[in-house]
Amino acid sequence: MSFNTLGLSEAILKAISKKGYNEPSPIQLKAIPPILQGKDVLASAQTGTGKTAGFTLPLLHILSESENSKFRPIRALILTPTRELAAQVYANVKEYSEFLNIRSAVIFGGVNQKPQAAAIRQGIDVLVATPGRLLDLESQGLLSLKRVEIFVLDEADRMLDMGFLRDMERIMSKMPAKRQNLMFSATFSKDIRKLANGILHHPVQVEATPENSTVDAINQKVYRVASGKKTDLIIKLISEGNWKQVLVFTRTKHGANKLCKKMVSANISAAAIHGNKSQGARTKALAGFKNGSIRVMVATDIAARGLDIPLLPHVVNFELPNISEDYVHRIGRTGRAGASGEAISLVSADETTYLRDIEKLVGMKIPVDILEGFEPDPNASTEPKKRGGGPNRNSNRAFSNKGKNSNRKAKQNPNRAPKSRR
Ligand code: AMP
Repeated sequence: MSFNTLGLSEAILKAISKKGYNEPSPIQLKAIPPILQGKDVLASAQTGTGKTAGFTLPLLHILSESENSKFRPIRALILTPTRELAAQVYANVKEYSEFLNIRSAVIFGGVNQKPQAAAIRQGIDVLVATPGRLLDLESQGLLSLKRVEIFVLDEADRMLDMGFLRDMERIMSKMPAKRQNLMFSATFSKDIRKLANGILHHPVQVEATPENSTVDAINQKVYRVASGKKTDLIIKLISEGNWKQVLVFTRTKHGANKLCKKMVSANISAAAIHGNKSQGARTKALAGFKNGSIRVMVATDIAARGLDIPLLPHVVNFELPNISEDYVHRIGRTGRAGASGEAISLVSADETTYLRDIEKLVGMKIPVDILEGFEPDPNASTEPKKRGGGPNRNSNRAFSNKGKNSNRKAKQNPNRAPKSRR
């Protein structure tokens, strides 16, 4: 997927290409389209995922679409918890806006306020700020937030950890109520969700790299079943459970098409999305799935990853992925704030090794059930079937030249909690 398909202006694409980026990172793929549509976004992403460009690029695009007024009031505010981050984000804003008529400035504490106030006085469109200095200058009448159209809260979790809740509330009270809000956070504690509820309106939720452990809210279950009975079993589960919206993962494009056809013959509305489908077909399928006219979306890993699919009550692994991390990506599609989600895996004998690997990765035994009439085949081999042509590990990972490293880093991070906080 290239940056050209995201709807960003030529001037922004030029700056991206100057930076040497070849393709958008997953968080950019997921966050940029809804931001461009003017939606509020709640993004789970940490540093290193390309999150800064994820919000800066569309923000700059939106601002440059409309005429700047003569007095250039602050139209976008990016709030960060630390000076370092503020400086870093500002550097990005400068680079990405090089070919645009957009002015920006950064303010933070610990240094003389005069040059900062002077920069703002000249008129700027984008302000990057830490909370303390922002409130300081605002209370001195040196800046106004009354014309802010887009508010970005970066590293919201750190902001709370550093005790900026009150400051954030004060800052928000200075902005117009009608504005677009983008909130980025590496973790999702109860407090973060509370904060998000207070700031965001019907946010689109996007996520960069789910951690290699599963979310508490997800109810995981395995049905042991003979491979030839999987289709009947999934149809039974969907019909009898009266599931309205379910995302089903298959390993191959062919498998996705086949299953989709079977669903449709069983009178269950379904659509498949995978790499062989045109963008138009995928968009249509996704729209149908979101508006409820399609109950079942059958997807391959790669196809699903670039798509902005809302969090769902049910995710089914029709086949287990042979790469354990993909299991975590898949089931991360379920389990929404407050409500529990269900992730079901249909596992045949030849997938036993994959199941073991997944259980090792998520650090738990997944409860197993067998339904009458859908028993596993006692004579089937537990040897994994040869799975040629599987997904290319790095084709859709962070950045083509960085994916491997960022993935490795994620696994080795000693600060990572064993249980995920998404
Ligand atoms: P961030 O997560 O925003 O701190 O970005 C991490 C690093 O990735 C920064 O050095 C960015 O310049 C770089 N970066 C952001 N987007 C891309 C991309 N699409 N391709 C390659 N590098 C990127």
